[in-house]
Amino acid sequence: MNGAAGHEPISRPTPNHSAMPPRNFHRHEARHDGPRAGHVAMPGAPGALLLAGPPAGAGAESLDAHLARLGPAGLHLAPEAILAAIEAAGLTGRGGGAFPSAAKLATARAAVTPPLVVVNASESEPASGKDRLLCQLRPHLVLDGLALIVWAAGAAEAIVHVHRGSDGTIAALRAAADERRQRGVADPRWHITVGPDSYVSGEASAVASMLAGGPPVPFPHRRPLATEGPGGGRPVLVYNVETVAHVAMITRVGPELWAGLGSPSTPGTRLVTVVGAVAEPGRVFEVSGPASVADVLSTAGVPGAPGAVLIGGYAGTWVDGQTALQLPLDAAGLRTVGASLGSGVIGVLPLGACVLAETARLLEFLTAGSAGQCGPCVQGLPILTASAAGLARGRTSRRSQRQMLRLLEDLPGRGACHLPDGAAHLLSSALRASGADADRHRAGIPCPPGPAGGWLAVPRVPARSSR
Ligand code: SF4
Repeated sequence: MNGAAGHEPISRPTPNHSAMPPRNFHRHEARHDGPRAGHVAMPGAPGALLLAGPPAGAGAESLDAHLARLGPAGLHLAPEAILAAIEAAGLTGRGGGAFPSAAKLATARAAVTPPLVVVNASESEPASGKDRLLCQLRPHLVLDGLALIVWAAGAAEAIVHVHRGSDGTIAALRAAADERRQRGVADPRWHITVGPDSYVSGEASAVASMLAGGPPVPFPHRRPLATEGPGGGRPVLVYNVETVAHVAMITRVGPELWAGLGSPSTPGTRLVTVVGAVAEPGRVFEVSGPASVADVLSTAGVPGAPGAVLIGGYAGTWVDGQTALQLPLDAAGLRTVGASLGSGVIGVLPLGACVLAETARLLEFLTAGSAGQCGPCVQGLPILTASAAGLARGRTSRRSQRQMLRLLEDLPGRGACHLPDGAAHLLSSALRASGADADRHRAGIPCPPGPAGGWLAVPRVPARSSR
């Protein structure tokens, strides 16, 4: 039984040791002992941790290969030991919020009712591909992490939540589940749920709401979801896919080695998706050590300084190209320019591209993707978006500019989720990064048009009623 007050006894999962060669993974695979330089690895390349193993083209790694390479997950550990390992590692959530993973787990363990564990694979940030890639290439690592969190939380079951259109992810996870069943791996009960593919429906409270039979939109909650679910119901413990994969690694290699693969402000490795003006937009890389934005861009084939870089996702932070090249890609480095890694998206604009035009399209996407239920989104975002679009076209007025600046101050902190905050932050950073361009736009001289559809692939958002 775990230490959670009031939880029903949960029987310890029995790892199928006969199926798990006792191979000691960490010294062979990580190759990161001692002082290290930053490293950016492609799937299957040396220096990768989560994505170590076969290259991307090889498809999902089989259970046999997974076990031969990594050995068993840490299900022999007591729940308290798993919590302690996550805490010692300093793991933070990789879905965007960067919340300390151990604190969330401890909250769930202290709740009166055992939680429903949700592995969030919905990846509602459209430019991100890391969670999909993990599920499709390393499904057993994800399912190991799911089992560990269920065991550590004293839960009885779990859900893997995906967006509509995630057929490849569903197929990979189901095939992996079949393999595990056939080999007698003692997984907890889990199943897949499918939600809408709108921007906010993957937010943790939106997922919890949908699973409780409500609308798939965020809701304000004063108590953590890990303490109390929607309507005072069963707690919901939501972890991102990459986060649970890291848990599976931490219990194998140990928190010290795992943490040492990162930097002091961002322990462990991190996955990033690079989009925009690069040879292969959407490629996922695993970053370790004191790697910089420049390291990632050079591995992605960006020659020299780009025009600007968007860090963190579509509601992230624009940084001008020269500044971006100087930035360490970790929490401390990005904080110096008001940025965070968010969901790990890095968007690249070439020299001469218009940051304001890209931002106007992103704001249009964010506005259309809001749940349309809070004041800032209903009343503020459309005006902000229209003002930004006018500025991008060089058709703006003093009144529109004043209104824009007022909204940039007024919108943050007033919605049920952080979408209005993110939209305001995106535009503020665009105004800074675009420098003299913004003044030219205000004077009625827009930048030359970029490619049709822009540099960053922004999906078309269906009308709210059809989502
Ligand atoms: S702030 Fe906006 S996106 Fe977030 S829940 Fe409210 S209406 Fe929806």
